[in-house]
Amino acid sequence: MDIDKIREEFPILKQEVYKRPLVYLDNAATTQKPRVVIDAISNAYCTINANVHRGVHHLSQLSTEGHEGGREKVRQFLNAKSIKEIIFTRGTTESINLVASSFSEAFFNEGDEVIISAMEHHSNIVPWQMLEGKKGIKLKVIPITPVGELDMEMFRSLITERTKLVSVAHVSNVLGTVNPIEEIITIAHSHNVPVLVDGAQGAPHIKVDVQALDVDFYVFSGHKIYAPTGVGVLYGKEEWLDKMPPYQGGGEMIGKVTFEKTTYNELPFKFEAGTPDYVGVMAMTEALNYVEGLGIENIAAHETELLQYTTEKIKAIEGVVIYGNSPHKSGVISFNVEGIHPYDIGMLLDKQGVAVRTGHLCAQPLMDILGIPGVVRVSFALYNTKAECDKFISALQRAIEICK
Ligand code: PMP
Repeated sequence: MDIDKIREEFPILKQEVYKRPLVYLDNAATTQKPRVVIDAISNAYCTINANVHRGVHHLSQLSTEGHEGGREKVRQFLNAKSIKEIIFTRGTTESINLVASSFSEAFFNEGDEVIISAMEHHSNIVPWQMLEGKKGIKLKVIPITPVGELDMEMFRSLITERTKLVSVAHVSNVLGTVNPIEEIITIAHSHNVPVLVDGAQGAPHIKVDVQALDVDFYVFSGHKIYAPTGVGVLYGKEEWLDKMPPYQGGGEMIGKVTFEKTTYNELPFKFEAGTPDYVGVMAMTEALNYVEGLGIENIAAHETELLQYTTEKIKAIEGVVIYGNSPHKSGVISFNVEGIHPYDIGMLLDKQGVAVRTGHLCAQPLMDILGIPGVVRVSFALYNTKAECDKFISALQRAIEICK
């Protein structure tokens, strides 16, 4: 990949912050957008904007084609069997809430169990926890090993005849660990338990084939894969989605409405109440085309190189503790510097033009397990360079000097 050329396609990367070139290393929170994605939004509003599915007029047809073309794009991106299995949502969080609400309505009884892991983002904890109160279910948590991997022996031992669902991250947004989802799915399926994979940090970096994985639900957010905010995906096997009740009521999701009785639309529309973010979907189509054009394997190889390069350099700095040392790691480094609060490091890096994440990273239970208030996290995307990694390292050294 020609990174210099690629960087030209991301207008925001030309910015200066405090009169220094922006070094954007907060990509796990959200990625920047290439010109094709920004132009897709502008073009949609300038040339075809009209509500989808409802109008017979020309623009509405164009808009519907763009929106449904996006669904076909996502189907192909995930290698799903059918477009019926692709539900558009606002993002990972909404996708998980949809499954928690609707799957539990169809299949959970008091005393049933859901297995998650110790490294989950709040959005894969709280929706299930809410069901503990509402449905009387029990949440079980797979612990992690000292290097930050799932304890698979413990996972096996947590499954009982009451287990109704396993819901785990593909990649941890804190530790960077790439979880063995193939193995998790095989084990869970041998007990007839379906699996949801939170792909927020997976889909942008790893080729996903939902049929080869045989995964029951796979979710991700557009904004973490170079698409706009406000649009995301829920893949669900048709056999499950068919049996699940609608999540929200409103337009689009109905078959026929009378005051006496309402019938619901077919898949995928049953789960898409209201006007969808069709402009977001059109722009996400461009983002996925862009990623596929570069090759997700090439992107991953580049990010892994940056990960290894930066890990070596950061390890050499005295007092640095890295959280997450699995050999199966995606482009995320979370760390602390002994004796210095992560916010101080984050602020001092920012003043030098380096954008990183600090805090609990929406994984407070994991922070409790690690016994820390928070971390500093750098996370890589396809447009980052080794020169930026060097700038980050020297900015970190300067920050440490100031704090001493
Ligand atoms: N899961 C993981 C692993 C994440 O990293 C994130 C975003 N930080 C989410 C879920 C939530 O994604 P969103 O805010 O886009 O819904």
